Amino acid sequence: MNAIARYFSDFFRGIWSLMLGMSVTWKELWTKKVTRQYPENRETLVISDRYRCELVMPHDDNNEHACTACGVCEMNCPNGTIQVISKTIETEDGKKKKILDTYHWDLGMCTFCNLCVLTCPSDAIRFDNNFENAVFDRNKLKQVLNREGSGLREKKKPIGQPEPSAGTV
Ligand code: SF4
Ligand code: SF4
Repeated sequence: MNAIARYFSDFFRGIWSLMLGMSVTWKELWTKKVTRQYPENRETLVISDRYRCELVMPHDDNNEHACTACGVCEMNCPNGTIQVISKTIETEDGKKKKILDTYHWDLGMCTFCNLCVLTCPSDAIRFDNNFENAVFDRNKLKQVLNREGSGLREKKKPIGQPEPSAGTV
């Protein structure tokens, strides 16, 4: 292809590309607008279940969770967002047992990578889609996920989906 032919080829390709772009713009000009009026639309707002907003530790009706305080999530968190504090208790038969004391999670440090959830061997934590977490004080982003007085479930059966705020105290 000589230089003149290439010039016209590029020229018409450019025109075609421009027309293609303008056709999209023209089409969108007449498309119904979908601006969402948040927070007025809170009642009808749909947030995807897969959207990761807040780490929670589901508790069942007996106030029991599935966290064994193994610390795997803490080790796998790239940001140091999780701190698992454990304590040792003596069981009725005189054996020593490590249980969860306090599960700290800092929303302000979390990048929502989901590594903690994926690596937890007990399925004890998960993300929910409660996205309204704006606060004026960063300290309020630090949460304790295990409820007061809660304990470890003996049998690791799956817990149903709790209310969005059920994992926080
Ligand atoms: S949440 Fe899971 S990984 Fe983390 S300490 Fe508890 S059982 Fe271990
Ligand atoms: S989602 Fe990622 S950054 Fe957030 S606590 Fe879990 S492992 Fe850490």
